[in-house]
Amino acid sequence: MRIDDKIAAGQTFSFEIFPPKGDMPLETAYRVASEMADDRPDWISVTYSAGGSGNSANTVPIAASIERDLGVTALAHLTCLGSTRADVDAYVAELAGAGIENVLALRGDRRPGREAIDFAHASDLIAHLRASGSGLCVGAACYPEGHVESPSERESFESLYKKQEAGADYLVTQLFFDNEDFYRFREKCLRHRVRLPIVAGIMPFTSVNQIQRMAFTCGASIPAKVVKRLVLAGDDPADQARAGVEYACEQLEDLAANGVDGLHVYSMNKPSVAHAAREALLACGYLEA
Ligand code: FAD
Repeated sequence: MRIDDKIAAGQTFSFEIFPPKGDMPLETAYRVASEMADDRPDWISVTYSAGGSGNSANTVPIAASIERDLGVTALAHLTCLGSTRADVDAYVAELAGAGIENVLALRGDRRPGREAIDFAHASDLIAHLRASGSGLCVGAACYPEGHVESPSERESFESLYKKQEAGADYLVTQLFFDNEDFYRFREKCLRHRVRLPIVAGIMPFTSVNQIQRMAFTCGASIPAKVVKRLVLAGDDPADQARAGVEYACEQLEDLAANGVDGLHVYSMNKPSVAHAAREALLACGYLEA
């Protein structure tokens, strides 16, 4: 089913997984997806070479298995830096062959040796997907705190408006640790004529190192209340990860209470994280048993 139809029908709840890195077997991803499917998400998204992992070849096979074997809607990510129109058309044909109706159209992070060929920005990819007549439901990324490369807020919203005009059907946010950033962003979108539904993406922090890495790669700021949680958690990695899941659940509950088009959990291939999020959203009434 198309994700824009799901969002139109009511608030959504979804998870993200990434294909196994290096030599890890594909079965690992199938097992993770299968366990997450037990928590009945509206969809599971599958990343495409995220963080430069180079594991893009497994995105469609995993997404296909989610649709076919688990009966859950899959969202296949796609980045376009370094790709030609023919590469994208081949990917679209693969999606069609696997019965996948949803794609998240992204530029991808800049890396040495990966320059723009036919697509400089995500909006170029979105326009191509629309023009190709694929009929795909196309999602796009947005950034409550602005994209790291954006020189100004105005340019950040102009880029977002271009995604809307190119034909994006909805937006999914980059992770954020302070919901006030999301609420401000949502208001500003309207002022900048960006009227697409916005699904809020939440990632539990797992350790001091991980959150510092996130701050640099995504430009997400770390509020004092998160630093305090980590200090209170102490040096034990398990306690730090537990504090991260607790904090993420509180963020989700607050977003649910403030009305949101959808909640997406960056569950980092951890079914326990996805499950904790579902329990929190059941408890606050966002989800029904
Ligand atoms: P763009 O929209 O092209 O924006 C990139 C920069 O260019 C921004 O600063 C923007 O303001 C500017 N810009 C955009 N259009 C124009 C224009 N027309 N003229 C001038 N400037 C412009 N990465 C992966 O590799 N794989 C994944 O699976 C993946 N999944 C993601 C999922 C989500 C929900 C999010 C939020 C990010 C994901 N990323 C993934 C990371 C993403 O690829 C990076 O954030 C990337 O740096 C930007 O992607 P974008 O699609 O927003 O690019």
